[in-house]
Amino acid sequence: MARKTISRKTSDSARTGSTRKAPSGARKQESVLPGSRRPAPSKAANAKLRPWSAVEVKEAFERFQKANPQPQGELKHINPFTLLVAVVLSAQATDAGVNKATPALFAVADTPQKMVALGEERLIGFIKTIGLFRTKAKNVIALSKRLVEQHGGGVPHDRAALEALPGVGRKTANVVLNIAFGEPTIAVDTHIFRVGNRTGLAQGSTPLEVETKLETAVPDEYKLHAHHWLILHGRYVCKAPKPECWRCLIRDLCRWPDKNLNPVAR
Ligand code: SF4
Repeated sequence: MARKTISRKTSDSARTGSTRKAPSGARKQESVLPGSRRPAPSKAANAKLRPWSAVEVKEAFERFQKANPQPQGELKHINPFTLLVAVVLSAQATDAGVNKATPALFAVADTPQKMVALGEERLIGFIKTIGLFRTKAKNVIALSKRLVEQHGGGVPHDRAALEALPGVGRKTANVVLNIAFGEPTIAVDTHIFRVGNRTGLAQGSTPLEVETKLETAVPDEYKLHAHHWLILHGRYVCKAPKPECWRCLIRDLCRWPDKNLNPVAR
């Protein structure tokens, strides 16, 4: 497929190397981002890469949309409550690991009332393969009780109410608002944090800084799915240790100076 080329120049002079310093600024259980193990930013977070123009940002998202018109999240869930639980369980764990545990759990507890009735010890039996399962079990039971007591057993369509739930921070609230309620939020996980910094699309030293820059840069028409496109791009193409630049849709737009253009170098 022929695609438009904006510019193949990159800020190659901005040599950045890589580090594994985690960003600060997350909260509660989300002190390390959910849906991830550790953010793996690079010195690009501190390097000044040439900013993207509005035309380039639009071009990048046009390509993402063309390649994947309806991107989906990868955490298995069957309703807003099970989505919320799955995201809470995904903190410092992989989606694949959470997806192995949750179908059996959600078969018996797909509402806050059923989760409270299940109880912490039996919940642990379902999620003990997931890291930090004891803390997460406490949070899931506590948030389920809160949903029953304060929200009639529903998941609130409200950021402040979501972030007030045990184990829920800004990133989890953004995922729920986006997937369950169709809000154009951008939940910055480890992949988006890395892609934002590495490409120069949205550089920041904290997830909130990256989120704020993406909010400003991404055209409204692409905001609903921007979160999924960027996560999937980071997970499967712009990978942490070795980005697969040779097959990257936005290679000509990306500012990363150390592009990996050789498939054999995997
Ligand atoms: S895969 Fe390579 S070219 Fe593509 S966004 Fe990542 S670093 Fe840039």
